[in-house]
Amino acid sequence: MEALKGLCTIVLPDASLKEFAFQHALDLNPDNYPVELETDTSADPQLIAAAMETRRRWPNGMTLRVHFLEGDPLVQQKVAAIASEWCQYANIRFAFDAGPDAEIRIAFKPNMGSWSYMGTDCSLPQLAGRPTMNLGWLTPTTPEIEYRRVVLHEFGHALGLVHEHLQPNAEIPWDEQKVIAYYKRTNGWDENYTRSNVLAKARADAFTAFDPHSIMLYPVPKELTRGGFEIPWSNSELSPLDKEFIGKMYPFAG
Ligand SMILES: [Zn+2]
Repeated sequence: MEALKGLCTIVLPDASLKEFAFQHALDLNPDNYPVELETDTSADPQLIAAAMETRRRWPNGMTLRVHFLEGDPLVQQKVAAIASEWCQYANIRFAFDAGPDAEIRIAFKPNMGSWSYMGTDCSLPQLAGRPTMNLGWLTPTTPEIEYRRVVLHEFGHALGLVHEHLQPNAEIPWDEQKVIAYYKRTNGWDENYTRSNVLAKARADAFTAFDPHSIMLYPVPKELTRGGFEIPWSNSELSPLDKEFIGKMYPFAG
């Protein structure tokens, strides 16, 4: 069965790497230190955990190397052109065809859907040689609008952005058994891995206000929820707030 169109997953490193991944993020960019810890040493441990899971920003001004592990050259070319739009608003550059040591490594496995690791997690040494992003449903004939939705969204994750509506009040009525069965089939994930990557709650996004026009709005297909709940994937452009926010994450000098 095909991966469900629209569904996107932020892939987290294995739980055993959690502390290492946090330290890795801090080593690359001290700004990844959670604000809660700086200002309030008695902060709620749940809040700290949430903050630790959200900040994965690259150093400002970094050139991120990108490597295609496979894929049609025409598809690769389109991906590179669209992804680079982020660089108009963020002080980040992408260097494509950078070789297998690149920070961002892209696969096009058709049955594995659309997913990405987040920000600095992509350069964890434990993930070397493996894809950090999958763009499973892009082919040379995919409509331009779909390219834009998928590529801008997934590169948003690669820059460290989370899903737009990971607000604590955005409860999604997942049908847990269907979700677990789906990821077992498409990605080979066991139940625990799917629970922590997809079903875990309260990975609160500490630094964005809800923006219904955001490219990072998370589409949710009704095939995996109860009661026909769905969030359609309608945004295919960077919203004004997306541009403003990424410019604050990665500001240009002056
Ligand atoms: Zn996503």
